[in-house]
Amino acid sequence: MRRVVCPGSFDPVTFGHIDIIGRAAKQYDEVVAAVLNNVNKRGLFTVPEKLDMLRASTADLDNVRVSEFDGLLVDFCRANGIETIVRSLRSVSDFDYELQIAQMNFRLSGVETVFMTANPQYSFLSSSLVREIAQHGGDVSSLVTPYVQGRLRDKYEERAGA
Ligand code: ADP
Repeated sequence: MRRVVCPGSFDPVTFGHIDIIGRAAKQYDEVVAAVLNNVNKRGLFTVPEKLDMLRASTADLDNVRVSEFDGLLVDFCRANGIETIVRSLRSVSDFDYELQIAQMNFRLSGVETVFMTANPQYSFLSSSLVREIAQHGGDVSSLVTPYVQGRLRDKYEERAGA
């Protein structure tokens, strides 16, 4: 059984994330899409909201499950029988940071990191851009699922009303 983790903030999950998770699901027996629960870094969405959107976005992928982790990713890997981390590279600017983290994770634990190249269709796409566009009422229908679009609308309406 080859189980891998696709870790991230997923604030919120985009078509770019779904592309990588789907491609990983074709390569490996099981993919755990794991949301980082970082108390020092509060996102737009809560962890339960991120998990809900991730679940809805990957419901058609039988070998994908959704989870959360705090602390070190390598500890999550060890506890869940995961030997490989899958990350993606969108641009050269991703590379420096990702290489450093991958080397540190390997040194800490022997867990391997595999890089997948982002689909060029989504290489410009990030959760932060989606948040920015949605906040200003822009059209994000080509960037996230209709379900996530609805959650973004609710969130910004909730904030405007607060
Ligand atoms: P993090 O803060 O850990 O980078 P993200 O949610 O931004 O969390 O990203 C999680 C993973 O998804 C990373 O490997 C990232 O490179 C990948 N990813 C994010 N956006 C895209 C995209 N548009 N296309 C492909 N991969 C992406």
